[in-house]
Amino acid sequence: MNRKFKQIDAIVRGLNQATDAHFKWLVKILRFVASRDADLPDITCDNAHNFCEFGAWLNAQLAEEGGDRNYLLDIHKKHVMVHQACRELIILLDKDAERSIHFDRFETALLAFTDSLARYKVHLLQLRTSYDALTGQPLRRILDESFDSMNDQYSETGLFLMLLDVDHFKKINDTYGHLAGDCVLRSLAINLEDNIRREESVYRYGGEEFIVLLHAESGRAATVAAERIRCAIAAAEILAAEQRIRITFTAGLTRVHRGEPLREVLERADMALYKGKNAGRNCTMLISRRLDCLNVSA
Ligand code: GH3
Ligand code: MG
Ligand code: MG
Repeated sequence: MNRKFKQIDAIVRGLNQATDAHFKWLVKILRFVASRDADLPDITCDNAHNFCEFGAWLNAQLAEEGGDRNYLLDIHKKHVMVHQACRELIILLDKDAERSIHFDRFETALLAFTDSLARYKVHLLQLRTSYDALTGQPLRRILDESFDSMNDQYSETGLFLMLLDVDHFKKINDTYGHLAGDCVLRSLAINLEDNIRREESVYRYGGEEFIVLLHAESGRAATVAAERIRCAIAAAEILAAEQRIRITFTAGLTRVHRGEPLREVLERADMALYKGKNAGRNCTMLISRRLDCLNVSA
């Protein structure tokens, strides 16, 4: 299951707040050095990195399962070094001979830390551009990048690709306007999400075409799932441009075979979709590896 657009935004927001907190921590050091009136755990403890606000944020991120682990571990390493260098500097602040070295070490640690944060932010922002701004769904690039590993992981237990294309969508735009068309696509994405399982994913493939990756043990189970989705969308009323709009879609459905490249699976699904359009639309066409097509809505 892919991370959602909004989750990435929330991580970026959290990262920004945590980074701000670390700037405040620097000011706190100055105060501490000036007065030395208290033992502050986020400055003086051996594991001070666990006591600062940034550390709390980082530990919470590390506790979650996610694909960003390498970035977070690198940040963790650099963060520990910042706190270590700071503690050493404070201890040796009164010793003229070593002071300069420790100031340099603290500066180096801080620069390495901000560099590590910047790399993570660039990664998050790149990831964000892989999501569709209109619907929030992952774009084709994410499918391209994750398909092989999903194939490895799920093709034995049953993975199916459903390529769907809204029927006569041009007419929706022509009748209600392009903005209403956008609204319809946004609602379609939400409705698709509402009708799949947690571990399944919806991608915006382009224009009014979406891809759903379904987990199903057999062609029959996949057909039932695909038909449930098709019927749910056909039954839904979408409120756009003060109108209640109904849409249908046609889908090409095919099994993902172990080791099969995405391009082959897509070609097959596209062939089935094309046949479905010719068969009158608003239907699901199941296509086998030998390219036998079956209209499962008939
Ligand atoms: P068919 O049943 O054969 O698929 O007919 P169709 O009208 O859906 O297909 P066609 O390819 O002729 O038209 C697709 C339309 O989708 C044309 C394009 O302007 C519109 N479209 C693609 N992306 C967007 C979008 O992001 N927003 C809106 N409003 N329209 C879009
Ligand atoms: Mg199309
Ligand atoms: Mg269409």
